[in-house]
Amino acid sequence: MAEGEYLEEERDRPRLIIKIQEGQNEININGGLVVSNYQFTYNEKTYELGEDNCSYLMDDEDNPVAGIEIPDILELLNQAEEVNFDLKYYGQPCQNCRAGKEEKAKFFKFLEYHFYIFTKNGEYVMSSISKEFTNTSFTRLLKEGKTDNSFIVSVMVCINCGEYSVEIEQCDV
Ligand SMILES: [Zn+2]
Repeated sequence: MAEGEYLEEERDRPRLIIKIQEGQNEININGGLVVSNYQFTYNEKTYELGEDNCSYLMDDEDNPVAGIEIPDILELLNQAEEVNFDLKYYGQPCQNCRAGKEEKAKFFKFLEYHFYIFTKNGEYVMSSISKEFTNTSFTRLLKEGKTDNSFIVSVMVCINCGEYSVEIEQCDV
């Protein structure tokens, strides 16, 4: 890619996260759109996913996706009709609280949810939990040339401390 093109693209790309208002769970994006943290309840415990308790966002190594960051993920979750986190057991403890490590647990409890995102030329287009997606399908988007790749997004929340991470991986076609 020529240097000029790169700069152009950088300039046109919206700058996310201008400020996090203290005491309010709101992230102000581009001075206009306000995205709230995402909240859900599991076993009577409320979990809140925000920018401050995200340990990492891991993009696909070979095909990184442009145009999707943590605030976008939170917005998608907030706009989705139905989001259900399931209990999963991982071989590694939470890096934040290490719950179960002292007790020498073999498995560690996390709450996991996944959805899909579709891209075109490496840029985010739509997700499987977007409102627009209710009127279409991945096959249709492919046929219409609106997408050329799909990825699975996993949101993994520590059941103990609520710290979470997000991983984006290309789906095997
Ligand atoms: Zn934890």
